[in-house]
Amino acid sequence: MTQMLGTFGYYPIRYYFDPTLIFAVLGLILSLIASAGVRSTFAKYSRVRSASGLTGAQAAERILHQSGIYDVRIEHIRGNLNDHYDPRSKVLRLSDSTFFSDSVAAVGVAAHECGHALQHQKKYAPLVLRSTLVPAANIGSSLAWPIFLLGLIFSMRPLLTAGIILFGLAVLFQLVTLPVEFNASSRAVKILSNTGMMRDTEVNGVKKVLKAAAMTYVASLAASVLQLIRLLLLAGGRNRD
Ligand SMILES: [Zn+2]
Repeated sequence: MTQMLGTFGYYPIRYYFDPTLIFAVLGLILSLIASAGVRSTFAKYSRVRSASGLTGAQAAERILHQSGIYDVRIEHIRGNLNDHYDPRSKVLRLSDSTFFSDSVAAVGVAAHECGHALQHQKKYAPLVLRSTLVPAANIGSSLAWPIFLLGLIFSMRPLLTAGIILFGLAVLFQLVTLPVEFNASSRAVKILSNTGMMRDTEVNGVKKVLKAAAMTYVASLAASVLQLIRLLLLAGGRNRD
């Protein structure tokens, strides 16, 4: 391990501490704060029952049908806060705390996932772009660090550059994810208030839950940008060697 860390260092002290680690730690802290935020906000509005009495699953079905979408299946998935819309199989998966619950939080999250189904139906450009970026982002996030580390160990500049470009693809994916997430939430809020499915006070709760959820995407983008800066600094240090 000391040998490995040695590849980052040019002074004896750096054999024990890589100063660019601070960027990784900062990113981790941001992500932890964001996920704590969504958990506490979700928990708070999970205790508020929505006046309509609709569960997340029922609300999702109603929203989809009102939008003329009949070919999207709604399924239950085990877990918490792992709700998602799968555009390939046209399935909207709602977790335990959303599918069965008639809370403001549950209906809000269900409506947000419907927002993604609507984006898919309307071929919303950022969603289309995001889908085409998936393979590149997967390759980027799994290969960036191994290739970059090989570049550091063998002092090979092309490998360092390749690692940075691959990581950049993953960052780009996260960047494109932001408009997709914010737009799904604004569609959800609009539908819930325009259709009268929720009262204004309930919609305010939904806004808070969805904003907290969106912050997790902002935090992971920030964490990735920090990692990218770290890679650039490490590569720059190596070039000066
Ligand atoms: Zn989403």
